[in-house]
Amino acid sequence: MRKKIVAGNWKMNTTLEQAIMLASEIDLKLAESKKNNDDVTVILFPPFPFIHDVADVINLDKIGVGSQNIANHPEGAFTGEVSAKMIASIQEVGYTIIGHSERRAYYGETSEILSQKIALGLENNLDVVFCCGEKLEEREANKHFDVIKSQLSETILKLSASQMQHIVIAYEPVWAIGTGKTASTEQAQEVHAFIRNLLKENFDVALADSVSILYGGSCKPTNAQALFSQPDIDGGLIGGAALKADDFIQIIESY
Ligand code: PEP
Repeated sequence: MRKKIVAGNWKMNTTLEQAIMLASEIDLKLAESKKNNDDVTVILFPPFPFIHDVADVINLDKIGVGSQNIANHPEGAFTGEVSAKMIASIQEVGYTIIGHSERRAYYGETSEILSQKIALGLENNLDVVFCCGEKLEEREANKHFDVIKSQLSETILKLSASQMQHIVIAYEPVWAIGTGKTASTEQAQEVHAFIRNLLKENFDVALADSVSILYGGSCKPTNAQALFSQPDIDGGLIGGAALKADDFIQIIESY
């Protein structure tokens, strides 16, 4: 059975104090939740400098922690970069996001760069949440399947089956990120099924059935349940709504 995952990508938000408060609140509310959320893997992705402090205030048996990015070089003279090795040396950290559309768009991250990051993440025992998704003009031109196929073929579909066990895929249509515009359940399910089929073609049915595929893009308490009830949607990567403890908990509870 594949994992159900709800992950919060805090992006470049919060101060140290706010990050500690938000994480503590999420931890407390999850512990007090009337629902049994034990089968949902919850992961927080705070900004780099707060990862350790966030990990300090949460119950790590219930909530995982990860980084929003890693460098595409192992170490050395890359001022301002943060390596996979550094992240992995924070004992509590088990995950990293790679390939978020904001990194692709604002920092020119190509499939080649992303493949280097994936390799470094896996070498350092980090599970990788790999993002893919089409832009609005690509969806309007009905090219979304081609775009997703290229994004995956050039990166994770080149991995071995054993490496794939450490990959979570997040389908995040760019036009839905931070816009308040969510993909319909049908649109999301259709792409998730397409991705799972690509996994089947490139690996096998068992592997395709074991990889979690998350939806991301204006997921909130009001639409999470409908999205998560789709057969190929295994949870969500949540941006804006992950910054409000109540909303984030409601999204977790909607499973
Ligand atoms: C994201 O950036 O990964 C995301 C899904 O953002 P939002 O939920 O705000 O659309």
